[in-house]
Amino acid sequence: MPVSEFSLIERYFAAHRFQRLDVALGIGDDCALLLPPADQQLAITVDTLVAGVHFFADADPESVGHKALAVNLSDLAAMGATPAWATLALTLPQADEPWLAAFCRGLFALADRYGVQLIGGDVTHGPTIVITLQVHGFVPPGLALRRDGAKPGDGLYVTGTPGDAGLALAATFGKASVAEGHAGSIRARLERPEPRIAEGLALRGIASAAIDISDGLAQDLGHILERSRVGARLEVERLPLSPALAASLDRKAAVMTALTGGDDYELCFAVPPERTLQLESSAAGWECRCTRIGVVTAEPGLRLVRADGSALHLEQRGYDHFG
Ligand code: ADP
Ligand code: MG
Repeated sequence: MPVSEFSLIERYFAAHRFQRLDVALGIGDDCALLLPPADQQLAITVDTLVAGVHFFADADPESVGHKALAVNLSDLAAMGATPAWATLALTLPQADEPWLAAFCRGLFALADRYGVQLIGGDVTHGPTIVITLQVHGFVPPGLALRRDGAKPGDGLYVTGTPGDAGLALAATFGKASVAEGHAGSIRARLERPEPRIAEGLALRGIASAAIDISDGLAQDLGHILERSRVGARLEVERLPLSPALAASLDRKAAVMTALTGGDDYELCFAVPPERTLQLESSAAGWECRCTRIGVVTAEPGLRLVRADGSALHLEQRGYDHFG
């Protein structure tokens, strides 16, 4: 007997008990009713993951559930917002209950860790799996980390080790091989990205601009530069390469992957010189690395320079769905 849309919602989404005080009414009615804090701005973002485009149709559903939420939380992190609520619109070709159960395990494990409550959504039938997740968070007025605040002279930084997810993706397509002993960590970087929520919150009042890296460091940094009407000088020798990336690719390919590989969900941000010390003392307590990779310049455009001062040219800045 086919399961109904309603029993799926009951069993997999409404059954998860996690109740925030600012949710007056959660899953089950025509709308959720929420109590956003009066003194904060509401930060909202939405992302869609399509089977065969953003993940393999046979990918581990628990990882898919994790990643669907993680990429959204990453946007809140890049804005310096505290996560609060989520809605989920799910299109499924069939009511595959083992898939749904595992998907929910991954989704709710991450949601619970960040105190995010699923407050509503939709389940529909369609030709392939499509996951649309929207998340809502809060940020005090004036403290959001926008893309348009970078000024010449600001230092440029990146969290973690960009390029790992790009390597994992290249390995999946047989275009690269991961050095022995690193396969697990590299896979996890692609399938289980950790949103840099704590780091985003710590950057409130410190960073002048920020973005999360979903389409490659060079391309996403380019968005900060365009929106801020500035340029940058990025010193490629400073790029923090993970041991796994450095062991798997030659130096040039590793640098290219760090610059153009997508799906990292690290933060790239600018910090004015007078707040460098503040950043350094904050970053000393972070779980991930924080590396200075360059400086914002008045001259527009992104310039990549090697240690000897010579210029490095990129053929491709990053991933573009329509490129
Ligand atoms: P409506 O037809 O009024 O939009 P639905 O029958 O689609 O309502 O959904 C019933 C309730 O279940 C609503 O509160 C909706 O927000 C919630 N819901 C539906 N799908 C999901 C889902 N994938 N995740 C969380 N809540 C969901
Ligand atoms: Mg509906």
